[in-house]
Amino acid sequence: MIHQYGAHRARNGHGLREAFLDPGHPSLLAAGNACGTRAGYGGVQNGGVERILVSACLLGSRVRFDGGAKTSDDEVLAAWRAEGRLVPFCPEVEGGLPVPRPPAEIEGGAGGAAVLAGAARILTPAGADVTAAFLSGAQQALAVATSFGVRMAVLKEGSPSCGSLRIHDGTFRGRTTPGQGVTAALLEANGIRVFGEDRIGEAAGYLAGLTAAADRPRR
Ligand code: SF4
Repeated sequence: MIHQYGAHRARNGHGLREAFLDPGHPSLLAAGNACGTRAGYGGVQNGGVERILVSACLLGSRVRFDGGAKTSDDEVLAAWRAEGRLVPFCPEVEGGLPVPRPPAEIEGGAGGAAVLAGAARILTPAGADVTAAFLSGAQQALAVATSFGVRMAVLKEGSPSCGSLRIHDGTFRGRTTPGQGVTAALLEANGIRVFGEDRIGEAAGYLAGLTAAADRPRR
């Protein structure tokens, strides 16, 4: 599995978890860790800024099923990146799937919550069951988010992992249906607010609310 994203992995001091710090952030480059030699994210501090989990493909990593990226040119996302807020993550790659890989959809367009409950599978067009990899990726995404104190995420809309408002309907005919991907559903179930990349303005408002609440003096 060769991809830019994987080259920026970092392990914590105990080797138990893996972290994905934004390789575009100046502090990482200055620290000489662009090749994945950084000590673990468990000890990485960033001045207390609110971290945001982001789909790695939105930041230019070629981790999609077709070997491509979905690089966002959103200025707000770029500003957050410059501030060192972003924690890039690809649940499908971290779940063990290769790049490239066959497309996959949740059967019946049932949604991530049904997959988490064991009531629906995730299948390729040939009928291969890749549910376990998607579940593993979702659990790892939650673990990384929790380690960074993440309270919000911006994820790629429409993905069976990352979709927050819509997913494909399971027919592989390019049709979507309302619903969440597996990772988005697990993050939301654990109190992490998820926005699609087409709702960054909404996400910015949410971040402003989190920041204002954190800055408010306690009585
Ligand atoms: S949408 Fe999510 S799972 Fe799919 S390539 Fe992007 S980060 Fe990975």
